[in-house]
Amino acid sequence: MNRSIIERDQDYVWHPYSSSKPSTPPLAVASTNKHELILSDGTALIDGMSSWWCTIHGYNHPELNRAAKEQIDSMSHVMFGGLTHEPAVMLCERLVAITPDGLDRVFIVDSGSVAVEVAMKMAMQYWQALNQPNKRKVISLRRGYHGDTLGAMSVCDPVTGMHSLFEGSLTKQIFVDEPPMGFNEQNIRFYVDYLDQQLSQHKHEAAAFILEPIVQGAGGMRFYSPAILKAIRELCDRHDILLIADEIATGFGRTGKLFACEWADISPDILCLGKALTGGYMSLAATLCTKQVADTISSGEAGCFMHGPTFMGNPLACAVANMSIELLSNSKHSESNWQQNVASIERALVDHLMPLSEVSGVQDVRVLGAIGVVELDAPVDMGVIQAICTKHGIWLRPFGKLVYTMPHFNCQGKDLTRLCTAMANAIDDYLKEDIEVN
Ligand SMILES: *Cc1c(COP(=O)(O)O)cnc(C)c1O
Repeated sequence: MNRSIIERDQDYVWHPYSSSKPSTPPLAVASTNKHELILSDGTALIDGMSSWWCTIHGYNHPELNRAAKEQIDSMSHVMFGGLTHEPAVMLCERLVAITPDGLDRVFIVDSGSVAVEVAMKMAMQYWQALNQPNKRKVISLRRGYHGDTLGAMSVCDPVTGMHSLFEGSLTKQIFVDEPPMGFNEQNIRFYVDYLDQQLSQHKHEAAAFILEPIVQGAGGMRFYSPAILKAIRELCDRHDILLIADEIATGFGRTGKLFACEWADISPDILCLGKALTGGYMSLAATLCTKQVADTISSGEAGCFMHGPTFMGNPLACAVANMSIELLSNSKHSESNWQQNVASIERALVDHLMPLSEVSGVQDVRVLGAIGVVELDAPVDMGVIQAICTKHGIWLRPFGKLVYTMPHFNCQGKDLTRLCTAMANAIDDYLKEDIEVN
């Protein structure tokens, strides 16, 4: 008899952040359709995860499909050293046009973690070129997440990033306390003074300050005030430290602005993009920097920036990214109403999730843009919650105590209501089941 895909998977495949023998087997997906994952047994689940923030326009979008097909018929890939092509040039032009002012140079890479590595290397080469080679460390917020490669890991939260496992191999960076929680938090003076003192103390060794603007994602799904972001921009200027904004999760509309930096009306010196860049079709990321950073690096000892991935500027991925940006920006596409769509998702999340804050077992409920987070009192039992979500017809992937969703922007109307209702009911059921067990 043929063995099932799950059995074969369990014999050979390793999944993200998993044991090689996971207690909860994965679900097998046969295909996708708009907002749904179609499992191999025919079950359709509404996707509440946008495949980790990426598929902002939903699955199998006709225009994105068309862009990929047209591009693959003309040119799938060529090396980027010494060669260039329309899809990459167009993407760089577009990214410069839509991102905050002053970011004029684009370095295209393959994944978010590499975009962060590139940002950190840019900061180091910048100070090297200015004859300040002792400025090599990066200041990072606790509870941050910036990727899984060793350099990116070194700026992730040391506790949730389990730095102790890699003692000796990770660069010791400078960690400062995470911002007080709350998009509307007014009481920030104390925190900003604390940062001022930390930056002043470390300015001689700090090349850059890296942060996720407004929303700390995979490190805890925490929102903080734009006034803090604005203050950090000023502090970085005052203390001669470059500001790296990691908008890999927040970029392309998720928080209600195209880029979260816009909430504070600031421009970073270096910006990392990824995740939703191709509308979730394939792996592509980018690191942008100011003309000053680019020119300084290029006039330094190396005379060049020391990085160049094999698949840099992949035309296929660039073509899809161009179409995804076109969908967001050209009024002939309904997706250009993304701001309205995100606002209606925010309302639906508030309506359906906020009542959970009264439920015992729930610590906090928070919503910003198309992000809805329910923080429980205790870590979630993945097997139990996954089964309950499937029963309710939705796909969520909680971590730690956090059950959260970030829907496709065009998941609206009945689909949106179904997702939000099912999520609230699933959490309710889960907490009841938990009480029965204990
Ligand atoms: C996902 C993420 C990364 C890493 O991106 P990968 O494509 O998974 O390497 C980096 N920073 C932030 C803020 C992210 O959310």
